[in-house]
Formats: sequence, C-alpha cells, structure tokens
Amino acid sequence: STPFPSDLEIAQAAEIQPISDIAAEAGISEARLEPYGKNVAKVLLDETTTAENALKKGSKYIVVTAVTPTPLGEGKTATAVSLAQGMGKTGRKAMLTLRQPSMGPTFGIKGGAAGGGYSQIIPMQKLNLHLTGDFHAVTAAHNLLAAMIDNHLHHGNELNIDTRSISWRRVLDVNDRALRNVVIGLGERMDGVPRQTGFDITSASEIMVILSLATSFDDLRERLGRIVIGYNHDGDAVTAKDLKADGSLAVILADAVNPNLLQTLEHTPALIHAGPFGNIATGNSSIVADYVGLEHADYVITEAGFGADMGAERFFNVKCRVSGLRPDAAVLVVTVRSLKSHSGLFKIVPGKPLPEDMLKESPADVEAGAANLLKHIEIVRNFGVQPVVAINAFPTDFESEHQKIREIAEAAGARVAIHRGVAEGGAGATDLADAVAAACDDHSELVYTYEDSDSLETKLEKVATKVYGADGIEVAPAAKKQLAQFEQLGYGNLPVVIAKTHLSISSDASLKGAPTDWALPVREVRLAAGAGYVYAICGTMRTMPGLAKSPAAERIGFDEKGTMVGLS
Ligand code: ADP
Ligand code: MG
Repeated sequence: STPFPSDLEIAQAAEIQPISDIAAEAGISEARLEPYGKNVAKVLLDETTTAENALKKGSKYIVVTAVTPTPLGEGKTATAVSLAQGMGKTGRKAMLTLRQPSMGPTFGIKGGAAGGGYSQIIPMQKLNLHLTGDFHAVTAAHNLLAAMIDNHLHHGNELNIDTRSISWRRVLDVNDRALRNVVIGLGERMDGVPRQTGFDITSASEIMVILSLATSFDDLRERLGRIVIGYNHDGDAVTAKDLKADGSLAVILADAVNPNLLQTLEHTPALIHAGPFGNIATGNSSIVADYVGLEHADYVITEAGFGADMGAERFFNVKCRVSGLRPDAAVLVVTVRSLKSHSGLFKIVPGKPLPEDMLKESPADVEAGAANLLKHIEIVRNFGVQPVVAINAFPTDFESEHQKIREIAEAAGARVAIHRGVAEGGAGATDLADAVAAACDDHSELVYTYEDSDSLETKLEKVATKVYGADGIEVAPAAKKQLAQFEQLGYGNLPVVIAKTHLSISSDASLKGAPTDWALPVREVRLAAGAGYVYAICGTMRTMPGLAKSPAAERIGFDEKGTMVGLS
C-alpha cells in the first residue's frame, strides 16, 4: 500500500559503490581498511582511535532518539539515515554510527532494521544477516566462557564456586523459546556436572555490551577479565580472569572490535558496530565507531534505542560517561501514529494493521497525545542538550496533523522539522539537516542525572524521579540485599541501567502519555561488572525472544529467478 517499492526492492536495485571509494571519500586511509568483499570493510582501530583525537577535530555529535514508540517503531533508524543523507544533500560531511541488527528477530517479526524506503543502509542482506561475523564472535566468546565454567566444575571446582549462584548463561542468535530454561550435564559422570541454566539471545550477552562500551582493545580485554560469572561459597565474586578465560575471549573478539563500514543508498559512510539489547542492556552502538566517525566526518549521527527515557538516558548517563564524548544535539523522532496512540484512544496490536480510526485525518487525536512529546522534550533538555523535533512523515499522514505537531513542539520552544526521507531520500531531509546543524551551534553542556559517588539506590531513584517523572522507587527486599552486596563488593560506583518496558515512560506498558503518581518497582538487581553497570529489573524481561505463530522465517527465501525475498 506504500506509494514506493518495498525496502528490499529498493535496496536490491541500488547502485552500490566500492567500499574502498566510500572510505577514500571519508578520508579513511587504505592502511586502516580491511575489506570483507567489495561492499563491506572493517576500519582497523589504531593508536589514533581515542577520545582525545575524536574531540580534537571539533566535529558535531548527534544522537537520534524518539518519543515513546508504538510496538511498530517510529523510525529512528530511518530518520538517522535520512538525516545523514540530508546532510550530504546540503553539502555537509556526515557519517552514521549504528547498531548491527540482531539476526534472531530478522526471522521473527521485525525485519527492516536497515532504515526504510529511500533511506537505508546497503547491502541490507549482509547487514541483516552475518555481516562480518561479529555476532558469531560474541556468541563464541560467550559460550567458551560458559564451557570453561562447567569444565571447572567438572574438574573439581577449585575456585569453590557456588553452582546455584552462576549467572553466566549461554547465548544464540536465534529466537528459540524452548532454550530459555535447560538442564545441562545429563548423562554419565564424564558428561559434566548437572545443573539448570538457559540461553539468551546473543544481543543480550554482556560481551555484546562490552564490545559497545570498550574504548580500545586493551580496555575490552580488561572488561572481559572483570566479568563476574557467579560467587564462591564465601560470597566473593568469581571473574572470567579467575577462570583464566580472558585471554581466549579477547582472541576470539580481536576482529570484532573493529567497526564495519557500509554505505547508505546515497553513499554516506555508515559504521555499523555492536548490537546490545535495548531493554536489559544499553541499546547503543559502539564507542570506538563514534571515535572513528568523529575523527573523519564533520557530523556524526548515532541512534539510541527506544524512547528518550530508555536508550538516550543510557546514552547520556552510561555511554557518554565512559567515552568522554559530548553530544551537540539530539534529534527527537515523532510520528503522527505515536501521538495518536498516546491519546489512549487506540490500541495497536503488533502484526495486525493499524486500527482504521487511527488513519483518518484528526489533528485533535494527535493533540490528545501531546503530553508524551512534551515530556521527552523535557527529558532531553534536562541532560543539557537541545532537542530537534523530527516529524517522520508517513504516506498515511495529513498535513494538518504535521502542523499540529509543529505547533506543539514550537510552543515548547523546540526546533522542528518535517522530513520525508523514507519516501524521498536525502532530498526529503534537507530542512531537518539545516535544523540539526543550527542546533549543533547552540550551547549544550551534558548534565548527568547522578554522580558516580551516589549510592546505587540513589542512582536508581534519581533516574526514576528526574527522568521518568515517578514519585519514587519501591525496592523489593531481595533487591535491597543485592544492592547492599554489590556496594560491599566494591561495585557501588558503577552507573545503572533500568530494565523496564519501552512502551511507556513508566514501568507499566499500558500507561500512555506522561504518567504521574507512580513508583518504579525494583524487583531484582543484577551486576554486569565487565560491561561496567548494575541493572535493575523492573518488570518481566525476556532475554530470549520466541518466534511468532507465522514467523518471517516462513516468507524469507529465494524466488524462481534466484532473488532473495522476504527480508522486509
Ligand atoms: P526504529 O529505529 O525507531 O525502531 P525504524 O527506523 O526501524 O524504527 O522504523 C520502523 C519501521 O517503520 C521500519 O519497518 C521502517 O521501514 C518503517 N518506517 C519508518 N519510517 C517510515 C516512513 N516515514 N514511512 C513508511 N515507513 C516507515
Ligand atoms: Mg532502530
């Protein structure tokens, strides 16, 4: 029903430039380029890949975030690609830094993680599948550590590990709900020590977050060594280094640490690197890719997963804290359908078409959802960064509805631009590019929500109250004990990640708009010592998705001409 061809058709018809040309144009030296075929290359990190060098050039650093999305997504990736292409059309030198899509969901329901329409990353088949094998490397490293833990138990458990405390599970990049809980070590005595464990999807691996937060290969190695896999019977943490696994894990990840260079449909360079989960992890692409980008381009555009309460909060409080980088502007993506959904008048069911009433012209329904947009503008501003509200135009929208969003955002004093990048490519995003460039020249000064020295509980409370607008937090007794344990073990200075639903600013997915009069329930707290944060579970969190009744995998394949089909 879209007035333009499908994403896959556009991507397959695209004229792709040799990646060596893209690199040369971007000023990436041949010595640093390691081609993986004609259209993809790794950019090798070297001693120049540092925060200091990234800051020296004075390039602008832009994060793309969004209002609270509907389950369909509101087009952050599509807007990031549109903006980068719009920068190109207006004579500016831009580079994208994005997460690599997870293969599991590609065969589930999602698909289309490469942008949309005329604003996509190509080659999209490679992007959505194996690319250069980084996800496989993360899977292999993660599972080697798991194997070394069980091998250690089998050979006498010299470290005195309390087997019931082992939190290191196994991972796979396939949506397979049957592996969520498994018993291993069954069989004969020589087949290992039986115990219950389970599988998570590769993007939920702590090693994926380490890949995204490492500031260099040396830093990656140290973080791998710091991974806590469980505790001994005295309650001390047992690390990957204690198991002497850190060297091997680093060897497995030696190529994966280098970002992957691809291009947009309009040949803007795009660094695709790391893909941590958005709910339990940081949901941001790698720090080293941002360093490389800032070293070479004048505008680096990155995306933070889900709404500004989720990915952008971690971008500011965790990623920027580690990287030492400071954003110059934030793009806040909003759609007509998202604000209509925040009116509370409609219910969107994933996999089903939008309710018909939602598609009729109604600026009033858009206005009824304004509270969510206003709250996200406030969230971004509280970090000391000026938001540019980007109205991502869909073919089903009406002019009056766009004007209504513009009015709401302008009344709040924000810069606003409508973009049609998905339908028109970069030519449809020149206003957005101009608005973002102007915003980058405004003063911004990153303000964290909490200090390193705050207690873990205070950090959680500050995010809940100052970012989400909650009245406070309700910490379950078990979680209180865990927080005290982490403080006592010396992890109290770490930042926090709050694992909650992305479908509401609150922890209740059914609450739309900007919920007030609620408290954040902290059920459980977990340690990611290698990645370097403590995360709080505030709701039911799935770390291994399942496939839908009729998964995309049933429609993906080759047609009679041998053309790949079905990768949305
Ligand atoms: P996000 O990164 O916020 O999750 P995406 O950019 O992946 O969102 O977009 C979500 C889905 O919506 C994708 O399938 C994308 O192709 C589609 N989409 C995004 N923007 C538009 C638009 N303006 N018109 C039509 N489809 C769009
Ligand atoms: Mg995205």
